[in-house]
Amino acid sequence: MKELWFDPARVLIGGDWAATEAVLPVEDPSTGAGVAEIARGGAAEIDAAVEAARKALAGAWGALDATERGRLLARLGRLVEERAEALARIEAQDVGKPLKQARAGALALARYLEFYGGAADKLMGETIPYRVGYTVYTLREPHGVTAHIIPWNYPMQIIGRSVGAALAMGNACVIKPAEEASLTALAFARLAQEAGFPAGAVNIVPGLGEEAGAALAGHPGVQHISFTGSVPVGSLIQAAAATNVVPVTLELGGKSPQLVFEDADLDAALPFLVNAGLQNAGQTCSAASRILVARARYDEVVARMAERYRAAQVGPALGDHDLGPLISGKQKSVVQGFLDRAEGLEVAAEGQVVGDAPAGGHFLAPRLLAGAGPDHVLAREEIFGPVQVVIPFDDEDEAVAIANGTDFGLVASVWSASGARQMRLAKRLRAGQVFLNTYGAGGGVELPFGGVGKSGHGREKGFEALYGFSVLKTVAAHHG
Ligand code: ADP
Repeated sequence: MKELWFDPARVLIGGDWAATEAVLPVEDPSTGAGVAEIARGGAAEIDAAVEAARKALAGAWGALDATERGRLLARLGRLVEERAEALARIEAQDVGKPLKQARAGALALARYLEFYGGAADKLMGETIPYRVGYTVYTLREPHGVTAHIIPWNYPMQIIGRSVGAALAMGNACVIKPAEEASLTALAFARLAQEAGFPAGAVNIVPGLGEEAGAALAGHPGVQHISFTGSVPVGSLIQAAAATNVVPVTLELGGKSPQLVFEDADLDAALPFLVNAGLQNAGQTCSAASRILVARARYDEVVARMAERYRAAQVGPALGDHDLGPLISGKQKSVVQGFLDRAEGLEVAAEGQVVGDAPAGGHFLAPRLLAGAGPDHVLAREEIFGPVQVVIPFDDEDEAVAIANGTDFGLVASVWSASGARQMRLAKRLRAGQVFLNTYGAGGGVELPFGGVGKSGHGREKGFEALYGFSVLKTVAAHHG
C-alpha cells in the first residue's frame, strides 16, 4: 500500500519497533487482494509491552505534568490533521470504508486529541467540608497501565476516544488493534512517537484476538481495560477483568431504534433514518437498524426510505460510493445468514453494487425490510451490515415497549414536533444516548457515549471518559 510511510509488520514496545516471528496478511476488502502484512504479536510481546508501560509510568511519562501531557496530545492531533488524507486512504483500503467516511474518521481522531489535549489539565478535585480541624480534598490519578482492545469498524475514532482520554489522565497504554484492520492504529502509534510521547506511553501489539487480545485482557499488570466489540468477547473480557479485579469499559453494539411519530418532519428525518443505517455499510455499533413508525405515516416512510435505498451505490472504497464492501468474507456470510432468515418480511428495496466492482470484494447490496413484528429475529439481533427493518406502532406506549424490547440499549432517537413527547421519551427510552429530532452518535466527541444492558457499561467520550480513565483518591488531613 503506497500510503504507508512505515513498516506495519512491527510492534511498538517501549519506543522500539520490533519484528515478530509470524505475520498476518492485510486484505483490502474492496478487492480481496493482500496489500500488506502486520505483526502477529502474542503473549511474549504483550508481557513486554505491559512492562514497558509500567516503566514509562515510573519514568519520563509519569513525571510529566498535566499541561505537558495536554500539549503532547495537541501536537499529536495536529500531526494527524496534517496526515489526514494519507490516514483516510489507509483506513479506506484496510476497512473498505468509502473515502469520505474515512476522511471524517481521521478528522474525528484529530478532534479527539485536540479535545483531550485541552482537557488534560482541567479536571479538578474537590475540597469537602468535614469536621473542624480537618481539611479534606480529592485527587484524580491515573489507573496505571491501560489496555485498549480496538475493533475493526472505526479504528481511528475508537483509538481517539479511548487512548486519547487515557493519555490525558496520565495512563500508559497498550493497544491491541483488530487483526482485520490494524494499519491506522499503527500509524497513530508512529505519529505519537513523532509528537514526542516518551517511550512506553503508547505501545501497540497487533495480533489475533485469542492470542494477543486474550493475553492483554488477562494480564495481571494491566489496571484498566477498555473494549469495543462483540457481546461474546466482551463477556470474556469482563471475566478476565474480574479475575484480576480491574475496572472495565465495554461498548458492545446495539439494535438502536429511531422512532418516527405522526407529527414528524419527514424531510428532516429521512437522511438520518437511512444514513444512520447505511454508514460504514451498517458496520457501526450505533447503527439505527430499527425504524419504528407511527402507523399513519408507515407506508409513506417505507416508500421514501425505499427511494433512497434504490439510489444507494455500493462499490470500492477508494471510488467513494455511498457504501463500500463489508470488512471480510466472514462478515458478509454472517449478514447473508441473517438475510436468509428474513421469512415473513417484505423486501421494500435494495441498493445496487456498481457494475465494475472487483469480483474479489465483499460487496453486498443494502436491503430495506418492512412489515417486521418486534419479535422477528432480524428486529432483535444485531446484524452489523447494511440492513434496516421498519416496524409499525399504534401509540406512544407501544413505541416505547418495542424500542426498549431488545437486550441492547445504546442509542435511540425521537422524531416528533411535540416538545412534551420529546421530553417524556428522552426519559422513558432505555439507551445511553437519546437524540431528539436528530441522530448522530458518531459525531460529538464532547458527548458521553456508552450503553445499558448488553450494549455494555461505562462511558467514553466527553469529560465523562476522563472520570473513567482515572481513580479518585480522598485525602483527609487532621491539623487541629
Ligand atoms: P467482531 O466480531 O466485530 O470482529 P470481536 O469482538 O471479535 O468483534 O473483536 C473486537 C476486538 O477484540 C478485536 O481487536 C479482536 O482481536 C479482539 N478479541 C477477539 N477475541 C478476543 C479474546 N478472546 N480476548 C481478547 N480480545 C479478543
